[in-house]
Amino acid sequence: GRPGTGGEHSAEKLLAPVLSAFWDEPGSWTLETYLRHDGYQGLRKALAMNPDDLIAYVKDSGLRGRGGAGFPTGMKWQFIPQGDGKPHYLVVNADESEPGTCKDIPLLYANPHSLIEGIVIACYAIRSRHAFIYLRGEVVPVLRRLHEAVREAYEAGYLGTDILGSGLDLELTVHAGAGAYICGEETALLDSLEGRRGQPRLRPPFPAVAGLYACPTVVNNVESIASVPAILHRGKDWFRSMGSEKSPGFTLYSLSGHVASPGQYEAPLGITLRQLLDMSGGMRPGHRLKFWTPGGSSTPMFTDEHLDVPLDYEGVGAAGSMLGTKALQCFDETTCVVRAVTRWTEFYAHESCGKCTPCREGTYWLVQLLRDIEAGKGAMDDLDKLNDIADNINGKSFCALGDGAASPIFSSLKYFREEYEQHITGKGCPFDPAKSTAWA
Ligand code: NAD
Ligand code: SF4
Repeated sequence: GRPGTGGEHSAEKLLAPVLSAFWDEPGSWTLETYLRHDGYQGLRKALAMNPDDLIAYVKDSGLRGRGGAGFPTGMKWQFIPQGDGKPHYLVVNADESEPGTCKDIPLLYANPHSLIEGIVIACYAIRSRHAFIYLRGEVVPVLRRLHEAVREAYEAGYLGTDILGSGLDLELTVHAGAGAYICGEETALLDSLEGRRGQPRLRPPFPAVAGLYACPTVVNNVESIASVPAILHRGKDWFRSMGSEKSPGFTLYSLSGHVASPGQYEAPLGITLRQLLDMSGGMRPGHRLKFWTPGGSSTPMFTDEHLDVPLDYEGVGAAGSMLGTKALQCFDETTCVVRAVTRWTEFYAHESCGKCTPCREGTYWLVQLLRDIEAGKGAMDDLDKLNDIADNINGKSFCALGDGAASPIFSSLKYFREEYEQHITGKGCPFDPAKSTAWA
């Protein structure tokens, strides 16, 4: 992905490159480059603070979890009981795999030290002496680069014993997962990290109370933790000067699909898709936006009527969806929505861990119905069946995967029911596959 640091677009001032500020530099991933860009300055400031004050500072900054749910990061740290005599753990969720989501992997590839610095700060705050990064195992080049960055950090005294002479000891373990979507769910991730088959645990207890090895654990997304050093270094007021009261700060938006310039665009929360498209060259020439996802396929889709929705937690929520992972997948008028939803649903059926019946059975039946409709073998009452099955998954499944699978069904039927009906009455797809490049 191309970071949003270029100067070729007039609206560039809307961007706020922080994490992506020097991704274009040769050797951006090295400690030497990171130090040249104020690297590990936030850590120095953090280590001069009392851990409780540090947690309060991050809480006051208003930083919210960037993994999708937007839970306040400082509050999550505060949940860790103190003086309980148990080990505390920080586990970084780097198992990025929501369809369309592609921000943490480029961030780790281009700027791994921002995560490592954030980890040391977070561990000092929550009194953890061992942190883990659970990385999506398929991304071997990222894994290698991360290992190298961790090695550099140990060698330079940012990890290990008596970090920067502060008395803080911290071990950091990088673990590569085996490529299951469900292992991005925080409790399945913990099971997987413990060496078991990754399946979600019942919550509560939340990981903050009983997480890794049944000990208090903070599970945070890569981008959340990597955002912390800049907040410390440049101040919470600077962070709060961007975005809104409830959704402050900068964040990475991943623009993909039928757009002229796909890539990562780092901007304040609350920017709109229209602004992002304006500054990035818009949809591919000669085509117009048909539908898009604000935060990956698990968040209800939007149409061209939602171009001015502020992309923050409240704005997207008020418009009937969720900000999620800020994966803006854009589809133009050549895309068959039934085909797109079928592909997504096949993904959910394949990735369903099978632990609970509504999701395991429901995603299977959704796929059967969708395939029939797409092939022109559907009946009108199949549309009610789709809604009914999705309704029996949504809110009735064990984890968020089930709700995510129901999302594209509900939203596509809401906005594009006619297109489903065309497949049924016309006994086939009205789109010429030769012109549709969405899933080529
Ligand atoms: P959630 O809202 O249930 O929880 C969010 C976080 O807050 C969790 O870490 C949870 O432990 C913590 N939390 C919530 N209530 C708590 C409490 N009372 N006490 C202590 N901690 C508490 O959301 P979730 O099920 O963890 O995640 C769903 C999100 O994941 C969706 O928004 C989706 O967008 C996102 N997602 C992301 C990816 C990806 O690749 N990044 C993939 C799939 C889904
Ligand atoms: Fe597994 Fe799906 Fe149930 Fe989640 S909702 S526990 S993925 S079967």
